[in-house]
Amino acid sequence: MKISSIVEQKKYSVSFEVFPPKTEDTRESVTKAAREIAALGPVFMSVTYGAGGGTSEYTAEIAHDLQANMGVPMMAHLTCITSTRDRIQEQLRLLKSKGVENILALRGDIPEGFELKEQNYHHAIELVRDIKAFDPDFCVAGACYPDTHPEAPSQKEDILHLKEKVDAGMDFLITQMFFDNPVFYSYMYKLREAGIKVPVHPGIMPIVNAKQMKRTLKLSGTTLPERFRRILDAFGETPDAMRQAGIAYATDQIIDLFANGFHTVHVYSMNNPVVAKAILDNLSELLK
Ligand code: FAD
Repeated sequence: MKISSIVEQKKYSVSFEVFPPKTEDTRESVTKAAREIAALGPVFMSVTYGAGGGTSEYTAEIAHDLQANMGVPMMAHLTCITSTRDRIQEQLRLLKSKGVENILALRGDIPEGFELKEQNYHHAIELVRDIKAFDPDFCVAGACYPDTHPEAPSQKEDILHLKEKVDAGMDFLITQMFFDNPVFYSYMYKLREAGIKVPVHPGIMPIVNAKQMKRTLKLSGTTLPERFRRILDAFGETPDAMRQAGIAYATDQIIDLFANGFHTVHVYSMNNPVVAKAILDNLSELLK
C-alpha cells in the first residue's frame, strides 16, 4: 500500500527507520530488532540501503519480511551514486517482486576516492526519473535538509534542486534529522515559497548516547542547539541518564511538531526497540 495514502488516514502517526545487517552474522539479531519495532505498530517503516553496496542485498529482504509477516507497510531506501543503470533496474524488479511499493530515492554519499564518470548517476533526480519510467505506480519519496545539504553552496541552491527533484515525480519528502524545531519551521516556509507542495515528514533522531551524537552530527552536517548541548554536557557521561534525556528531548520535539500542524514524524530508531517503544509510550494519548 502506498505510504502517501496511508498517512492521510491518520491524525497523528509515527514511522520508524531501521538499517539492515552489515554482515551475515548480525542478520538474526538485526531481523529480531526490526521485528520488535514492527510489532509496536508504526504507520510504516523504512529500511536503509548501503551506498557502497555492503548492506544493500538485505534491504529488500527485510522490507519484504516486515511487510509480509508483520503487516507493516514498508519503504525501501535505494541509492544510485555507485550503481549502474542495470543494477538499479535489477533492484526495482526485486522490490516489485517482493511487493514493496514505496521507495526512498537517494543519491547516496560519494565514497572517498570514488571517481564519478559520465555514465554514473550524479543526483537523486536521475533515479527518480528511472523509477517513474520503470513503473509510475511506485510511491517515491526523497530526502531534504533543514540544515542544508553539506555539499550545497547555499540553502537557496539546495532548495532550487529540491524543487526539480520533487517535480520529477516525488510523492513526499523526509527530512534529515534536526534538533531545533524553529530551524525546520523556517525551512518549511522557504520550501512552500519555492513552490514545493508535497507533504514533508520531519526526521527525528533520539540521541541516547554521546558517542553516537558526535558520529551522527559529523555525517549529517546537522547543527546542535545550545539547549541540547547543555543536556549533553550534564548527562553525556551517564548512559542511563543520557538515554532518558535523549528520549524526552525527541518526544518534546515530536509533540511540538504535532502541535504545529505536522501529522507524521519519521523516527531514526537505530534498530533500538526499547527507544522506539519509549517514544510511542510517551505519545500514547496523542496517537489514539
Ligand atoms: P541529491 O538530491 O542528489 O542532492 C545531493 C546534493 O546535490 C545536494 O547538495 C543538492 O543541492 C545537489 N544537487 C541536486 N541536484 C543537483 C543538480 N542538478 N545540480 C547540482 N547540484 C545538485 N544514504 C545511504 O547511503 N543510504 C540510505 O539508506 C540513506 N538514507 C537516507 C534517508 C534520509 C531521510 C536522508 C535525509 C538521507 C539518507 N541518506 C542515505 C544520505 C544521503 O544519501 C546523503 O545525504 C547524500 O549525500 C544526498 O542524497 P540525496 O538523495 O539528498 O541527493
